[in-house]
Parts: sequence; structure tokens; C-alpha cells
Amino acid sequence: MRRWHLFSLGVVVGLLVAAGFGFARSGAPADADQPATFAGVPVRPDDGKLGVIEFGAHPDDCEIRAGGVAALWSELGHHVKFVSVTNGDIGHWAIAGGPLAIRRNAEVQAAAEVLGVTSEVLDIHDGELMPTLENRKIITRLIRQWNADVVIAHRPNDYHPDHRYTGVLMQDSAYMVGVPFLCPDTPPLKKSPVFLYSYDRFQTPTPFRPDVVVSIDGVIEQKLDALATLESQFIEGGAMGSAARMPRNAAEREQAHQRLRDSFKRRCANVADRCRDKLIELYGEEKGKNVRFAEAFEICEYGRQPNAEELRQLFPFLPKKD
Ligand SMILES: [Zn+2]
Repeated sequence: MRRWHLFSLGVVVGLLVAAGFGFARSGAPADADQPATFAGVPVRPDDGKLGVIEFGAHPDDCEIRAGGVAALWSELGHHVKFVSVTNGDIGHWAIAGGPLAIRRNAEVQAAAEVLGVTSEVLDIHDGELMPTLENRKIITRLIRQWNADVVIAHRPNDYHPDHRYTGVLMQDSAYMVGVPFLCPDTPPLKKSPVFLYSYDRFQTPTPFRPDVVVSIDGVIEQKLDALATLESQFIEGGAMGSAARMPRNAAEREQAHQRLRDSFKRRCANVADRCRDKLIELYGEEKGKNVRFAEAFEICEYGRQPNAEELRQLFPFLPKKD
């Protein structure tokens, strides 16, 4: 009997504490339409629009690999979030640490403004990302909080360890986002997202397979404008820059910006050329042949496997099949 009393008391106290916590968290009872996690982080409400979250290792990777497609989604009212998994604090030849991390966060926020997306930089040191349980939980929670339909990251075979482990962390979260008792403070996703890898040119152990290739011809200038905000990287040379490469006056700065635009145009044109067969398959012979700039993605074999029709729902700017 005595034990039951203690147990009941424990339950009552537990409920009171939980209720008090919930109240203190939001200042008001939870709104059923606006679910929040136990920790008070709001879950993106399901408004019928797509939720897309991309993980890049550094504050420039998402913009480089998916800036165009993000602008296309955003134009249609869909919700795109870029997460830089490290803070980029060794990504400059002359400055490092906190001041650089703050600067690079400001740069990606400016880029996000141009693209119409949300951007978050995690406070993990650049060059030191590890595929730990702690980081797996962080990624799992972020995917759940964004109520993601599509998740994008690097492939796990890549020259940079931070890129590689960002890919591994996405893979490690792919199943866990639906498991209720992992991170029970954040509601699990009811529907598995589609997980995608962003484009790269690495060959070992397998070359990139372009499953989805998107024409970004209509938003190429917008993408370049976003990249132009990342001056620490593309104007000042980033980690491998030098004093000799720094623009010394307004004219040299202008030239550096032009070089940035030319080089990323070439890069996006290369993606289109290398993925031409897929562009023709998705856009038809005539349009597919004429796409100038593209971004490409490979479907990860973990998570939901979309058929052709669902792929067109997830990428609504692809032309409808006749
Ligand atoms: Zn990177």
C-alpha cells in the first residue's frame, strides 16, 4: 500500500512539474496547431508547403550546391532551411576563431536574405566535426523541427572530413528521425523524408549519380548574388588565400566579384553538361538540351524512395510529364 502511495505521489508531482515546465516554456498552454518540442523549439507547422533542410559542412556549402534550387522552392512559398554544421572558424588565411565565425554567420544570413531561405550556423569548430552520438541527435532534432520532406547533405565520400561526416550524420539520422524514443523531446516525423546527396565529382567508391537535375537558368543571377555576399571566401580567398590575393582597391574588388560570378557560372554549366542525359529525360529533348545552368542531386537509399510522380511533387518546378 505504502509503495503505491509513494508511486501515486510521484506521478502527481511528475505531472505538476511537467505542466509547470510546459507553462513556463511558452507562457501559455501549448497550441495544438503549433506544436513545440519539449525544449521549447517550435516545430514548423504543416501548412501544406514543402519543408526542405540542407546540411552543408561550412557556411558556403549549401549556397554553392543548392542556392538555385532553394530560390526556386522559396519562390513557390516552400520553406527552405540551410544549416552550416560547423561555424567556419578556420576558413580564412588571416583571421580565425570567434570573430571569423561571427563574420561568416553574418555572410550566410545575407545570402539567406537574397535566396528567401532560413539559415542557421551550428557552433561546432571548423575542421573538427565528428560523427558522434551528440551530433547525430542535433541533426535528428533539426530535421524533425523543420518537419522536413526533403533533406540534403554531402555524400560521405569527399575530400574534406567535415563534408564527409556531414554526409554520415545525415545517413545516421535517416532512420532515427522516425524513432519516437530517440530524442523524445522532439516529436518524430510521421512520414520519412526523401534524403538527397548534393553534387560532387568524387569517383571512389562510386561516382555521383544524377537522379534529379534542376535547371537554375531562371535564378542563376540570384544564386550569384547570394554567393557574392560570402566575401571572406570568394573575394578574400578563404582558408587558402593570401595577402597577395586580396583586392587592394575598388577596381580590384570589382574584378574579384566578376571572377566569382564567372567561376560559379562555369561550375553550374559544368553540372548541366555532365548531367545532360538526365536533363533531357526530365525536361524533354528540346528544353533539356538548352539548359545552361543546373544543380544535381542523388537519392540516398535510406529514407523514402520517391517514384517519378512524387519527385515532381517535391521538385514542383520540374515540367509536368505529358
Ligand atoms: Zn565546405
